[in-house]
Amino acid sequence: MSDLATIPDSVPTPEASSDAPVRQRKPDWIRVKAPTSKGYNETRQLMRDLKLNTVCEEAACPNIGECWTKKHATVMILGDVCTRACAFCNVKTGMPRKVDADEPAHVAEAAAKLGLEHIVITSVDRDDLPDGGAGQFVKVIRALREMTPTTTIEILTPDFRGKMREAVEAIVAAGPDVYNHNLETVPRLYPTIRPGARYYASLRLLEEVKRHNPLIFTKSGVMLGLGEQRLEVHQVMDDMRTAGIDFLTMGQYLQPTPKHAKVIEFVTPQAFSAYGAIARAKGFLQVAASPLTRSSYHAGKDFAEMRANREAQLAKRAGK
Ligand code: SF4
Repeated sequence: MSDLATIPDSVPTPEASSDAPVRQRKPDWIRVKAPTSKGYNETRQLMRDLKLNTVCEEAACPNIGECWTKKHATVMILGDVCTRACAFCNVKTGMPRKVDADEPAHVAEAAAKLGLEHIVITSVDRDDLPDGGAGQFVKVIRALREMTPTTTIEILTPDFRGKMREAVEAIVAAGPDVYNHNLETVPRLYPTIRPGARYYASLRLLEEVKRHNPLIFTKSGVMLGLGEQRLEVHQVMDDMRTAGIDFLTMGQYLQPTPKHAKVIEFVTPQAFSAYGAIARAKGFLQVAASPLTRSSYHAGKDFAEMRANREAQLAKRAGK
C-alpha cells in the first residue's frame, strides 16, 4: 500500500467541529527549538536597525530559529498591516501606513550585511494602493541589483486583485529570478480560508509571468491540514503544471491563534513524502514537501537545485 493510500480523504477532528478555542497538541514532528543563537540575535537586531518587517516574525514561523541562525530572513515590504483578512494568516489587518520610500535601500543594505546569496521578498496585500504595491517590488529589485548584484532574488507577491496584468508586467520587467505566488489551498476552501482571493485569478497571475518571460522560475505553494482532500490536492498540482509552474512547496498549516482557521489534520511526514513523489512525477522541476516546509524555507538551496534541474533537462532535450 502506498503512503498516499493512508491519507484519508478528509479527517474532521473533534476540535474542528467545536466552536470553543482549543489548544491543539502538535505532533512530535512539528516541535521546534526556541530561537536563542548568536546568529538569530544578530539577524533580529539588523532587522530592527533597518526598520524592516519580516514574515518570519509576523507569521510566527516555526523555522525562525533555524533560518535566522543561518541569517536567512524573508523581508516583508509595504508595512506590517494587510488590507485582507485571510483565515490562516497572522498578519494584522487594517488601514496600512504610507509606503516607506527608504525601504528599497534598507532591504538592499540588509542583503549586503547578511551576505545573502539568495533573498526572498514578500509583502502584505495593499489593495489601497493604485498599483497594489507593484512599484515598491520593482524599486526593491532594482536596489538589490545595484547593491548586491550577485544575490539571486525571489519575490512572493500578493494577487494584485483588479490590477494584476500591469503589476506582473512591471515586476517581471525588473527581472527577479523566481516569481512566487501561493495558491495556499484547494479551490473548494477559498470562501472560508482565502475569501478575498480567487483561485483561478491566482493561477492566471503565474501564467502571466511565464507569458512575459518564460525564463523566470515560477513557484507556488499550498498548506495541508485545512480539510482538503487528496484528489483535490492532485488537481491543484495538475492546474499548477498546466500554468507552467516550476516549483511546488507543501507544508503543514498551523493555527496561529485560536481565532484563526482550525487545523483539521496533522499530515504525517510519510504522507508529505508521498505527495512530493506524485508532484515530481507530474513534472515539477523542484518540489519541497514536509510538515515544516514554508515558501521561503531553504529557498536558496532549492533555487540552486531547480536551476541545475532545468539545465539538466535542457541538456537532455538537446541530446547532450
Ligand atoms: S521558513 Fe521562511 S518565513 Fe519561516 S523563518 Fe525561514 S525564512 Fe522566515
